[in-house]
Amino acid sequence: MKSLSSRARGISPSPTVAVDARYKELLAAGRDVVSLGAGEPDLPMPGAGLEAAVRALRDGKTRYAHMAGLPELRAALSLKFARENGIRHTAEEIIVTSGAKQAVFTALTALLDPGDEVIVPSPFWVTYPEAVRLLGGVPVEVATRFEDGFRMTPEALRAAITPRTKLVLINSPGNPTGAVYSRAELEALAAVIVEHDLFVLSDEIYEHITYGDATHVSPAALSPAMAARTATINGFSKAFAMQGLRLGYVGAPAAWAKAMVAVQSHAAHHPSTISQHAALACLEASDDILPAMRAHYAEARAYALARLSALRDLGVRWNEPDGAFYVFLAVDGLLPSTVRDGAGTVRTLTTSVHLAEYLLDEQGLVTVPGLGFGREGYLRLSFANSVKVLAEGFDRLERGLRALAHA
Ligand code: PMP
Repeated sequence: MKSLSSRARGISPSPTVAVDARYKELLAAGRDVVSLGAGEPDLPMPGAGLEAAVRALRDGKTRYAHMAGLPELRAALSLKFARENGIRHTAEEIIVTSGAKQAVFTALTALLDPGDEVIVPSPFWVTYPEAVRLLGGVPVEVATRFEDGFRMTPEALRAAITPRTKLVLINSPGNPTGAVYSRAELEALAAVIVEHDLFVLSDEIYEHITYGDATHVSPAALSPAMAARTATINGFSKAFAMQGLRLGYVGAPAAWAKAMVAVQSHAAHHPSTISQHAALACLEASDDILPAMRAHYAEARAYALARLSALRDLGVRWNEPDGAFYVFLAVDGLLPSTVRDGAGTVRTLTTSVHLAEYLLDEQGLVTVPGLGFGREGYLRLSFANSVKVLAEGFDRLERGLRALAHA
């Protein structure tokens, strides 16, 4: 039999999605498991969105609609970009997609030719390099440093640019590190980007989830030169907790946007009309919805950081996240180590994958090893949970880590 495509053979399933699937299997099998793994809100979707979705179904909004998204939603998103991000996009420059993930694929499909290089700061959201590879591009990882708060410096960016470089990915606030770029930092990166005439894909899905003095700045808003080369991706899966409804969007310069509409018209036609009606209602109610959401994650973050402080003596390290809802915990100080498992067998843990497997098997705790995000020696912990769940999760983490002995 002939084989699957080399592209398909070259990628692996999303490790974060796989971890979540394993968690849900264990739960279904009746195992006592707690998850600090999933990158998804624990909140219910906003009532305004729910009502609008039900109304849309009842009103028979179940026919095909415009391939780029409902005109009224695109108009509302145009206003949102202007009001919240300082980006001017006409409704025609905005495409509504089935989640931000699909927006990433559509934007890359419209832009990349085989062999085009895409700069991906690492650690990265697991999908970026795989999406680039699937579409024939070449991901070029630029390693950021723990000491720099995992933010790419202009020098590191410059050093990675070649004549084949076409696009730079920026994800602020970032998954998995929680890093948020300041305006000055983005301006310094923008200078290099404009000098080398590169495109930018800015994934801003965590824009509303920031802490303390950190504020979100959109690269496309920095200057006309940046607006002319940047596609801005966002969605309703994080701030509006409607991840299962699969709704995202992207605003881009006119020619790029037009190509994306053509791609989407063949690949998906358009995202669910029901989800689009829910999204429109959420946008209209966002001033009521967002403050409570922000307070929820701020409380969860404070609790998580307090619990981590009690683990400092173990030699684990972390940067306090300025945004999103993750802590990227450096556990390299604990590895390699040994531990006696429930059956009395001594396990040797040499990687973060071993550590995550041990925490799941012995403590019933789900975490995500750093490897999938491009950085060994780390675990990603999600604090998108109630304090009650976090309390149980951090109890298990502490028990698990304190049982380790240095090998
Ligand atoms: N971008 C980032 C950085 C993410 O963390 C995620 C979800 N984990 C997405 C995009 C995908 O979001 P969506 O559910 O809208 O596809």
